[in-house]
Amino acid sequence: MFTPEPVAKADFFVNCPKFKAHPWTTVTFSMKNYIGIQDDRHRLIDHDHRLNEKIADLQYIVQPQFIAIDAITAGEGRMLTPVPFPLNLVIMGDNQLAFDAVCCHLIGVDPMTVDHLRLAHERGFGPVDLASIRIEGDVTFEEARARAKGFKVGLIRVEKYFEGTHITAYAGPPPEGEKTDYCWGGCPGAIEEAIEILRLFDAQTDTKMPRVHVVFGAYEGPIDAAPGEKVIFIGDCAAWEGKLHDQVVQLRSVYKDRATKDPHVAKHDDIFAKMASVLAKLRRHKDDPFIRLEGCPVSVAEQVLFLVFFSGAKNPFLDPVESVAFNKAYLQWRSVTTLRRLQGIPYQRAGAADRGDARPTVEAPSPTDAE
Ligand code: SF4
Repeated sequence: MFTPEPVAKADFFVNCPKFKAHPWTTVTFSMKNYIGIQDDRHRLIDHDHRLNEKIADLQYIVQPQFIAIDAITAGEGRMLTPVPFPLNLVIMGDNQLAFDAVCCHLIGVDPMTVDHLRLAHERGFGPVDLASIRIEGDVTFEEARARAKGFKVGLIRVEKYFEGTHITAYAGPPPEGEKTDYCWGGCPGAIEEAIEILRLFDAQTDTKMPRVHVVFGAYEGPIDAAPGEKVIFIGDCAAWEGKLHDQVVQLRSVYKDRATKDPHVAKHDDIFAKMASVLAKLRRHKDDPFIRLEGCPVSVAEQVLFLVFFSGAKNPFLDPVESVAFNKAYLQWRSVTTLRRLQGIPYQRAGAADRGDARPTVEAPSPTDAE
């Protein structure tokens, strides 16, 4: 596990998350916020069907001495486009697992049903039972719970999520199907986030969308695509055999085993290069009955692009307000990383902590798929 050295070596660590539901991990409180302690190159390794395990593993790097969550206006349903839910609470704590467990109990979720909390509890990071946690404040726990009544979390499988829309989703198991039958941490959740972003930018997104079929994992079963309806296989692990419009299709998984992903040489994909390659691919295959988008995961940004391409919905990347902020962040990040290279601090030094090198290795945040 690689993190910037100041994170790994912090002698007093403060974690300040936002109180939100999450479509991949049910909730995102203090522990899930740890996905942000890695840079993009390392954050995306194992951001797949093992996401909950990864979050639990990250806990070994550092534990915060103080946590304060902003639950003044909480985020319901989703992570990137949450529905505002007024809770009017700031919750503070000093044990990360106990803290997240209290937040779960507040919204009526059993913490043991949230996999990264369950794993952390089994590994001894703290209690989840309210009877073992001291809670005090200027509102009682019951009053706080009353405020959270009706708060919706976002865990929903992609097939169900798209029911009643022009998109039909099919999901088979990810690699290591013996562990889980669904990839909660990767491509299926990313498309849910992507369409929600588009809906915010263009209220006509669903009507503009032609009938398309999206397939995840090793799906076995029919794909109900009429002639002219596009089928999109999303993610390296997508695999399928069958007939599409009288054409025999045999699509094999190109998923690379995680043992082949060496964090020492992990690279960050430039967001503009990624966008250009997705668009080039979509244009190249626009008349083919099916197309595969590769990646593990295929990011929210890439999925936004392909949905825009097929629907003609407004492109958020071209929105005048958003594009100025986006390009500014991109240029800042590029300038900082270039400057650091010129100063002789190579890009690949995020793991210096492991080698006992004392030079700080913090990177500027990149404007890619914020969570
Ligand atoms: S390719 Fe996508 S669906 Fe498959 S394991 Fe990776 S993130 Fe999950």
